[in-house]
Amino acid sequence: MRSKFLPFSAPTITEDDITAVAEVLRSGWITTGQKAADFEKKFAEHIGCPAAVALASATAGMHVVFNALGIGPGDEVITPSMTWVSTANLAVLAGAMPVFVDVDRDTLMVSSESIAAAMTSKTKVIVPVHFAGSAVDMDPILALAKKQGVAVVEDAAHAAGTFYKGRQVGKTGTSIFSFHPIKNMTTGEGGMLCSDDAALTERIRRLKFHGLGVDAFDRQMQGRSPQAEVLEPGYKYNMTDISAVLGLRQLARLEEFNAKRADLAMLYRKRLAEIDELLPLADVKYPVRHAWHLFIVRLNTDKAGMSRDDFMKELKARNIGTGLHFRAIHLQKYYLEKMGMRRGMLPNTEWNSDRICSLPLFPTMTGQDVDDVVDAIKEVLKK
Ligand SMILES: *Cc1c(COP(=O)(O)O)cnc(C)c1O
Repeated sequence: MRSKFLPFSAPTITEDDITAVAEVLRSGWITTGQKAADFEKKFAEHIGCPAAVALASATAGMHVVFNALGIGPGDEVITPSMTWVSTANLAVLAGAMPVFVDVDRDTLMVSSESIAAAMTSKTKVIVPVHFAGSAVDMDPILALAKKQGVAVVEDAAHAAGTFYKGRQVGKTGTSIFSFHPIKNMTTGEGGMLCSDDAALTERIRRLKFHGLGVDAFDRQMQGRSPQAEVLEPGYKYNMTDISAVLGLRQLARLEEFNAKRADLAMLYRKRLAEIDELLPLADVKYPVRHAWHLFIVRLNTDKAGMSRDDFMKELKARNIGTGLHFRAIHLQKYYLEKMGMRRGMLPNTEWNSDRICSLPLFPTMTGQDVDDVVDAIKEVLKK
């Protein structure tokens, strides 16, 4: 058994990263400033999109976009239930209704067919999720949305470095990335909105800082008017320079991080092939470059003779951390009790919600770590 606990995720932070953050702390300017501006520019260049806006989190980004799109009472937001809770919560908080669509049982992606079946005259926005670092089949969804005059916001929280049909996620349309510590690159907490819609980007820039046309940095350093006034009520969702300097450094290594993740994922695939109680996710059938945000398996609970929760507990007892991405939103207390959701609505989502488990995957892991995980799994399953 491993003597040291292997977490399911860990950020890659070097001494030079720490020095760079310390330099910002010593500089006298620690909130949104030159580093945040540089990070936005470099991120947009990396993705190939016309503009990027740095934010306090991906959730903050979705909140300002929902506000900019005017999402409110009577509106419907189409998104999967197999995702993080943020998008559904924001829809509810805006007074709108989250409309959950089922995902493919083996890729966990939504499809244009499932979305088309859920569209009504109240549908205001579609939020597909690029799951685990692979990509949703966007082209048919974009065509459908265009035909119906509905907005699309891509949840790219798992997709920093993902390519769909040769174009990087975020290059076209509107996408939101997350830099939470478990994501492929981190700023501590943070997010980035990439959009090719110049009017939307301008609104987001304003809404992320009180609804002023400028932020504190613009006023002090760029010689803009300190008499800026509220153009519309906004939020306080700017990214600090303390975070942004880390983002700049992480972005420079994103390709290297993702290549390491891909190597480890291929190692897992090879070593797990002999364990028939575990079913990894399937590859999608269109061209993608996978960012390998997560390595997900589904436990055959009948064959294993144990629940997924017990499987995770047994691995933890053997010093192996795991994650759960995700527990279906529509089966969580509030959604069952207050939003009229019920088990049986989304069979593929529910099947996965009961069986899904994320194995350790992060760039500083070694081949030995993968072996330790697989050995522990074999022991738990008594192989
Ligand atoms: C992490 C995550 C988010 C939220 O990102 P934050 O930066 O923590 O707000 C949204 N959607 C998905 C699919 C995520 O995994």
